[in-house]
Amino acid sequence: MLTMVALFGLSACGPAQPEAGSKGSVNIYSARHYDADEQLYDLFEKNTGIAVKRIEMKGDLLLERLKAEGNQSPADVILLVDAGNFWRAQSAGLFQPVQSAKLDAAVPPTLQGTNKDWFGFAKRARVIAYDPARIKPEQVATYSQLADPSLKGQICVRPSSNVYNLSMMSAFIQEWGADKAEAWAKGVVANFARAPEGADTDQLKAISQGKCAIAVVNHYYAVRLQRSADPAEKAVAAKIALSFPDQKGNGTHVNVSGGALARYAPDKANGVAFLEFLASPEAQAIFAKANDEFPILASAMDDNSALKGFAGFKEAQTPMSVLGLNQGEAQKVYDRAGWK
Ligand code: FE
Repeated sequence: MLTMVALFGLSACGPAQPEAGSKGSVNIYSARHYDADEQLYDLFEKNTGIAVKRIEMKGDLLLERLKAEGNQSPADVILLVDAGNFWRAQSAGLFQPVQSAKLDAAVPPTLQGTNKDWFGFAKRARVIAYDPARIKPEQVATYSQLADPSLKGQICVRPSSNVYNLSMMSAFIQEWGADKAEAWAKGVVANFARAPEGADTDQLKAISQGKCAIAVVNHYYAVRLQRSADPAEKAVAAKIALSFPDQKGNGTHVNVSGGALARYAPDKANGVAFLEFLASPEAQAIFAKANDEFPILASAMDDNSALKGFAGFKEAQTPMSVLGLNQGEAQKVYDRAGWK
């Protein structure tokens, strides 16, 4: 009876939001590097009363830290970008499988790890950015065209060791075979405007400065410049058009950002709750609106006009697990092609 009264007393408090920390905490190790993630953490705390404790660091350092901590690691959830990084962590035994009807309903099988040991929550397209004053859209309608001699001296791109480029090459090896992929890479190298340097945004700036006319970048870097309040960034975006390649062929190369439950998660329940939250419509809207990633829940895109303009493109269907398996071969192909 006493318990009944106590319960009744609690529910009489009404639908007030739980206080952060009242339901324990979740430890998140994140290799995402996007300011918008703060909004995800705040919303999760507000909705659940589970406090978010997090550390952020570069993907390779994060994996090293997890390996060093072993079964003493406080990490519950690991957030990474790029299927190549998920594969590295999975291969190192840093994840554990999650059985969740919510995650299975929300995340397509091609965007999950092979053993339900990681889940993609947002997609990014690796697109061709170009200067429309110098390049016609029909010159950059496919990835193959980047190797065409007519584009000599026009291309800027980041180094081959970057995981975005490794995953793209992994997909091409799967789709074209290694020989064709290597011939392509040689052709692209012959068209370089400069030796690979910098990150994706640096390539976009180089186009606006006339250093090159074409770059290969993840779409959200270009959309971010387009939506920026900074006049200098807006000016860069104004000089750039995007091609989502291979719309009449395999479709544009896509990759994921996502999360996994850590192998030694001290609080599995809170960890799974956070992963399930990332698949919710509210969290999906933040991926789209704040970070310009394509949400896996298409309807979450509604109020982001800059991104929505690109939605509905044909995506290559290469499973994310393949992108991981081909990482080593991808680096060898780039090395043989002289793509630094
Ligand atoms: Fe990125």
